[in-house]
Amino acid sequence: MTQKQSHDYFNELKDKLNEHSYRYYVLDQPTISDAAYDRMYQELKHLEALHPEWVTRDSPTQRVGDKLLEGFTQVRHSEPMYSLDNAFDQDDVARFLKRVKEQGGEDLEFMVEAKIDGLAVALVYEDGELVQGATRGNGEVGEDITNNLRTIKSVPLRLRQDQGVEVRGEAFMPKAVFAALNTERDQEGLEPFANPRNAAAGALRQIDPQQVAKRQLDVFIYGAVTNPSFTPSSQSEAFEQLKELGFKTNPYRKLCRTEEEVMDFLEELTRVRHELPYDIDGAVIKVNDYALQESLGFTVKAPRWAMAYKFPAEVAETELLHIDWTVGRTGVVTPTAVMAPVHLAGTTVQRATLHNVDYIETLDLYQGDTVAVQKAGDIIPEVTTVIKAHRSSQAVPVDIPQVCPECHSDLVRLHEEVALRCINPLCPAQALAQLTYFVSRGAMDIRGLGQRVLEELLKAGLIQDVADLYYLQEEDFMQLPNTKERSAHNLYTAIQGSKKHSYERLLTGLGIRHVGAQIALQLAQHFPSLKELMQAEAREIEKIDGIGSRISQSLIQYFLNEDHQRLIQRLKEAGVQMTYDGPSLEELDVRDNYFADKTVVLTGALSTYTRAEARSLLENLGARVTGSVSGNTDILIAGAEAGNSLTKAKSLGTDILTEDEFIKLLEESE
Ligand code: NAD
Repeated sequence: MTQKQSHDYFNELKDKLNEHSYRYYVLDQPTISDAAYDRMYQELKHLEALHPEWVTRDSPTQRVGDKLLEGFTQVRHSEPMYSLDNAFDQDDVARFLKRVKEQGGEDLEFMVEAKIDGLAVALVYEDGELVQGATRGNGEVGEDITNNLRTIKSVPLRLRQDQGVEVRGEAFMPKAVFAALNTERDQEGLEPFANPRNAAAGALRQIDPQQVAKRQLDVFIYGAVTNPSFTPSSQSEAFEQLKELGFKTNPYRKLCRTEEEVMDFLEELTRVRHELPYDIDGAVIKVNDYALQESLGFTVKAPRWAMAYKFPAEVAETELLHIDWTVGRTGVVTPTAVMAPVHLAGTTVQRATLHNVDYIETLDLYQGDTVAVQKAGDIIPEVTTVIKAHRSSQAVPVDIPQVCPECHSDLVRLHEEVALRCINPLCPAQALAQLTYFVSRGAMDIRGLGQRVLEELLKAGLIQDVADLYYLQEEDFMQLPNTKERSAHNLYTAIQGSKKHSYERLLTGLGIRHVGAQIALQLAQHFPSLKELMQAEAREIEKIDGIGSRISQSLIQYFLNEDHQRLIQRLKEAGVQMTYDGPSLEELDVRDNYFADKTVVLTGALSTYTRAEARSLLENLGARVTGSVSGNTDILIAGAEAGNSLTKAKSLGTDILTEDEFIKLLEESE
């Protein structure tokens, strides 16, 4: 590969990872296994180590989590919530232990904890009372899900001691609840959740807390932000204090002194994992002593004093029966192995991904081969190797199709791509995949309009492309089998309702190459209307952070095509919104005001605002609002009858504002 080709490859890998991250963190709908994601991520990290000049701010190695969901208030964490570096085998763990011991001495202690496969949450208590609960979000800013977290029975609403503390833990769905939920969804004809983690993430992002309560989530707390009233000197002491305050902690943890003890405990966890009533995906190994943790510090993404050991992927062997080739919305034809059913990591597996033709060729796959299938405690299994010793002498290589399995036109490989493509614009399978993508949650989010209805609409000749959806009348739906008046009305209303979305959803839904939901949002923030984007020159588009010539060229090519212009015109005539109505760039900009980046504590009674209002005003100005005064507090806002906090702030020399001063500064800042 030339330098240019490998840079292109690198960029493509980065885009893919970003898109998978978005599906995982924002949509809770991952389409590849965690093991496959981790492999791609390690490859990206390796390339970045070889070419540090390629590292950009949008690289998944440079950030925690992903974009925040709409519909929730954002909260800035008092201290960032980090991700963890991963160890994939015992050698990685041994290297980590050695590195840390070099700095902290031979006889230092490690706390090894079960790694719960759920969702990181932060709970803030003021004077012993739960006042806020949030997701990790992008690590700096999370989503305020207080009311949802209040429905979890193991989250104490009041602590056993009246003190301020912010704790961190993992919310999760027990396996039994998950199984029952999926059975129920199956009966209702809904898509099952891929795993308990996704189901828990989906539940916590419900707008209605009553719906969350039904999902029976649970929580384990594993840490806290230290403050003057919460000062453990080690992780083991923190666990004791958390328990005394009334928090639920996970019993699978062990204080280890030697490498042997650590490895033994990792093996014990690997053995018991399937017997536990909740999913664990590994173990977290932490330096026990907090003073040493502090001196080791953090990278941009993770603490240097901790490591997540991921359980090895589980593997089973079975027989390949045949390959299913399916056509996606861009015409890419993807192979899936259909195999003799085999038991793997707690489920029966019959289908596994083969990725693309190159992958099949690298595997050297023959018909009837015995294959190894892998699943890493998560969703889509993957064929990883062929057991050639079991191959019969008469076996022949698997067939690679020459024509599209749906429309029978010739398949091609564009620009030496690994993918096989059907380039017939009228291919019905592509139309269906494109329509399915257009109505999906990440794009126009048209609820109730699933693949089955779309297929029927296509078959009945009522639609051919996405614009046709907006010209359908209620009567049209009534022509479909099993569609009654009420559902016809609901479908019609859902489609019409989607017209009002800010235009980044439409831009996503058009399915332009390299333009996923994240890129679409960035484009819409810079070009407030589709018209302006369509008229933009490449160099204007490339001014946007993280957008290069690949994306700008793809957009320009798309908009130059007359069929696409006609499609957009018909969408416009149907009344689909073509402008952006989210926060402007100025609003999103890092704010320069008195409160930006300050840590603020509110105390006493305010007469103009409630606590919650004042908190949200401050957070909108970029301040962090925490529960109690400590050495980190920059400003105390003291309302009437302020008590202990005021005394403490005075003793620490913290800036103190009266309510009047606060309001004046607020007005100036806005
Ligand atoms: P992570 O899951 O590897 O580790 C960090 C998290 O571990 C913390 O945020 C915390 O929530 C959790 N945790 C559980 N128990 C803990 C304990 N006892 N102590 C401390 N933390 C504990 O990191 P991440 O950033 O949340 O996610 C990255 C992982 O997500 C990747 O390794 C990948 O497997 C997966 N992922 C998958 C896809 C996909 O498409 N399949 C996409 C993106 C990410």
